[in-house]
Amino acid sequence: MNFNNLQLSEHILRALNDAGYQHPTPIQEKAIPPLVQGKDIIACAQTGTGKTAAFALPTIEILSKNKPVKRNAIRTLILTPTRELAIQIDESFAIYSKYTSLKHTVIFGGVSQNAQTTALKKSPEILTATPGRLLDLIGQGFIDLSHLEIFILDEADRMLDMGFIHDVKRVIKFLPQKRQTLLFSATMPDEIKKLSSTILYQPVKVEVSPPATTVEKINQTVYHTDKGNKNHLLLHLLKEMDVPMSLVFTRTKHGADKVVRFLNKSGISSAAIHGNKSQNARQKALNQFKDGKIKTLIATDIAARGIDIDDLTHVFNFDLPNVSESYVHRIGRTGRAGNDGIAIAFCSAAEKVDLKNIEKLIGKKISVIGNHPYPSVEDVVEPAPQKHQNSNHNRKNGRSNDGKRRKFYGNKKRRSTSKV
Ligand code: AMP
Repeated sequence: MNFNNLQLSEHILRALNDAGYQHPTPIQEKAIPPLVQGKDIIACAQTGTGKTAAFALPTIEILSKNKPVKRNAIRTLILTPTRELAIQIDESFAIYSKYTSLKHTVIFGGVSQNAQTTALKKSPEILTATPGRLLDLIGQGFIDLSHLEIFILDEADRMLDMGFIHDVKRVIKFLPQKRQTLLFSATMPDEIKKLSSTILYQPVKVEVSPPATTVEKINQTVYHTDKGNKNHLLLHLLKEMDVPMSLVFTRTKHGADKVVRFLNKSGISSAAIHGNKSQNARQKALNQFKDGKIKTLIATDIAARGIDIDDLTHVFNFDLPNVSESYVHRIGRTGRAGNDGIAIAFCSAAEKVDLKNIEKLIGKKISVIGNHPYPSVEDVVEPAPQKHQNSNHNRKNGRSNDGKRRKFYGNKKRRSTSKV
């Protein structure tokens, strides 16, 4: 299959050719034909599958072909949960619509609204927005959605996770009844199914490979180590593997900052992006990363949503997520656009349960790398007591949770690093 078979106009095909796209991805193959015919759609697809183009291309096709319902009106709204994702979607529209006269803009919170309201006054047809800033600017009278033709709800499950679902419902009240609606979500929790039944009209259902198979090309390994030695293990691996570009996930913002301080002190240029950083600081870090000025970007889940860097080779799960789906989202940042990727996870004793849940979700065991300088010692406790009748039998017996007797690596130097 190639793009010529998808009922897209010459100007779009030219833009795709410029972007170096040769073949549509499965989600594009399935979603574009019904969408250009004006149908509603509910699509189960995660980031990395090419879903942005799957909704952007038919949108551009429709908007450039049909006359607007009203001149100077916003004709398409893409609602997405994070600022990074919003910026990236807007950039995608810029790429795909470059041979049209369609105008697009993006609005998100965390920065002054002035530049955004100035852009809105130029009457863009395509608006990408995060829910909070959108409601704010609607409230101030800068945005009128009453002539909208296409509504795209992106990453619906993430909206739910991030607590934005009520804002989404409030936005929907501002939309005209007659419209084309597209809902994209990586997973379909009940709440999203319920929402979809109220906002979609006879939708075409599209599903691409569930997360477990979309990450098949990613080489996944896990290192069992102690919480306090993760910094050292990371540094060791970054150096040993000579990693050119890596994204490191921590569980907390504070944890992300600590890793940055440690790496910078150790001579590896790094920066953090998370919710406590201003939008400008996040964008600056992201640009430095893309330009190769920093080698390692440390992120929390929410901030990393939408990071789309084709050359990213390594993703480190410095901390394992307790929501298993996040693991799949995280490692999906590498192995983009058909490239191979490497995903390395660190697992402390307390995170073994998270690892188990992740393996259940992806349907396979992640290969354990046993031979490394910072093996876990937290599993190994004191010498065996005389009697052992309780459930801690193995731990007290000097065995780790996998039942194997382990050597005690209680070297003081390593222990002391746990406070780094
Ligand atoms: P997305 O799932 O929308 O975040 O897209 C993932 C990445 O795949 C982005 O870097 C896109 O530029 C790229 N991409 C999307 N569609 C194609 C295609 N048909 N061929 C090659 N790359 C693509």
